[in-house]
Amino acid sequence: MKIENLYRQIIMEHYKNPLNKGLLSDADYLLIKMHNPSCGDDVTVQLKVEDNIIKDIRHDGVGCSICCSSASVMSEVLKGLSKEEAIKIAENFIDMVMNKEFNPNYLKGDMQAYSGVRTFPARVRCATLAWVAALKGLKEG
Ligand code: ZN
Repeated sequence: MKIENLYRQIIMEHYKNPLNKGLLSDADYLLIKMHNPSCGDDVTVQLKVEDNIIKDIRHDGVGCSICCSSASVMSEVLKGLSKEEAIKIAENFIDMVMNKEFNPNYLKGDMQAYSGVRTFPARVRCATLAWVAALKGLKEG
């Protein structure tokens, strides 16, 4: 199987069966909303950080398969990490998708499936939206 097809399958699997999807009505969670006007994606990320550890991440929204699946991967990868680790990994993912220099050692879970997005500049914002939301929450919260 070609690697592109494998990556597409991983993305479709997260799109159909997203992990950690659905927001909680819990005031302990930090809420970050992001919008991507070029594609119409809307993502809301909920973060719960305790003792510097990400205890939980939720996400919800409507958007294309790349955006929604990427939110699922983000929640799976970052949950349980320290704030510093999570920031490093999220920044590294964004660098990879934006075709900047990145460190493959910081690619976890299914993050690599989005490596091909760099050849489609119009979809970069789709892939990074949930990660940018999480970063914002981690840096401000
Ligand atoms: Zn999109």
